[in-house]
Amino acid sequence: MSTGAELRRKFLNYFALRDHLILPSASLVPKDDPSLLLTVAGMVPFKPYFQGKVTPPHPRLATAQKCLRTQDLEEVGKTARHNTFFEMLGNFSIGDYFKKETIGWSWEFLTKELGLPPEDLWITVYRDDQEAAEIWHDLMGVPRERIIPLGDDTNFWEAGPVGPCGPCSEILFDLGPAYSCGSPDCGVECECGRYLEVWNLVFTEFNREEDGKLSKLPRRNIDTGMGLERIASVLQGVPNNFETDLIFPLIEEAAIASGISYGADDKSDVALKVIADHARAVSFLIADGVHPSNEGRGYVLRRILRRAVRYGRLLGIRDPFLKRLTDKTIALYQDPYRELKERSGHIQRIVSLEEERFSETLEQGLQILQEQLEKVEVSGEKNLPGGVAFRLYDTFGFPLELTQEILAERGMNVDLDGFRVSMEKQRERARAARVETVPSDSFKVCTAYSGDKTKFTGYGNLSARSQITAIIADGKRKSESDPGGAGTGYIGPDTFLL
Ligand SMILES: [Zn+2]
Repeated sequence: MSTGAELRRKFLNYFALRDHLILPSASLVPKDDPSLLLTVAGMVPFKPYFQGKVTPPHPRLATAQKCLRTQDLEEVGKTARHNTFFEMLGNFSIGDYFKKETIGWSWEFLTKELGLPPEDLWITVYRDDQEAAEIWHDLMGVPRERIIPLGDDTNFWEAGPVGPCGPCSEILFDLGPAYSCGSPDCGVECECGRYLEVWNLVFTEFNREEDGKLSKLPRRNIDTGMGLERIASVLQGVPNNFETDLIFPLIEEAAIASGISYGADDKSDVALKVIADHARAVSFLIADGVHPSNEGRGYVLRRILRRAVRYGRLLGIRDPFLKRLTDKTIALYQDPYRELKERSGHIQRIVSLEEERFSETLEQGLQILQEQLEKVEVSGEKNLPGGVAFRLYDTFGFPLELTQEILAERGMNVDLDGFRVSMEKQRERARAARVETVPSDSFKVCTAYSGDKTKFTGYGNLSARSQITAIIADGKRKSESDPGGAGTGYIGPDTFLL
């Protein structure tokens, strides 16, 4: 059996021996990429290389990349495979090797290095990609009946309507009949989970032109991705990502905190899995500099963190518990992710503060929600008034999605239009108030003047270097002022200090 850490190491060593430069994982916060909130795949940090905008340090690269996805957040814990945070193993060729090499290496790695039985592996190829099908059959010896041609929606990769794109080929592991839905049609396309996709190989060889036609790219690239948790689950013989050694110690920690052991029943198992998954996400997000807030990445973090707290409550945990989970994450992952250890104090502070803040209002908010729900149910409606959802959001710190989730558990919804109207009204009030409060005190003044580029860094640092772009004293913009004078605020583009 291989531990997750051994698998990560084996993968990187394998490609290092084949002339790949091994790079450390990039941050979960994409660098210089306003189009993306978070790093969602191994190739994200390499986009400028693939687009030819920047020359890579080496044409062959391999990484274990931290990734975070939230589009299926509600599924986490309920299915075997959904995770928010995960690690993606990948090898990349920037205008260097192509299909033959990458197919050969992925096959050799899985069957020789990891020792997976070749007869348990299935292949999908793009229906027009005869070349890939031939390589799998002629060179790797995969029987034709286990090479399945599929269409655009699964086996053709495009980042957008125009630009580089190409076919992909997936390697799936057959978990066996015990995992099958039992349908006579059950096969690699079935959703039941018997055939687990372990590795996706993308062959970027075309450019989609404005008129929709495909042209051959002068420099072809390879981009591959294999989920570490998935392949670990296969090698460790466990039925889901959560029971691998990459996550299970966190489930055990949550079980200790709640006094409810894993396996006691399905509902509490979901909660334990959610807490374990979210603790990893929270730890890594904060380590990469994300701070809880009501927008962008900060909101993603806040939503995940508060969701974990609520699931803790569902398990009957009354006292703060998240810190012990994030501490455990740090202990588990500090090698190779040194940023966790280096920023452990910072992670602990933010987690404790945010959990404490939400705990203060959670109970009261849930009570209000309960009362309102009963009213709605009596009236025979299916929608909670948007104004109530907004009050829960604004006063009690309930992310809208959390309210929606609690409602969904009872077959109900939020009146979203009403929510938006309330949000807009509140914004107007805030805009009006901002103008009025400028002359009051320095904190409000700074809030009023702080634009998008100003962020509060006081949770992590007691001092910071910044450029002062405005000085406000006694409610007026000044050109100079006594440092630290009462009612004085300094505003800079990167930080603000009081
Ligand atoms: Zn099936």
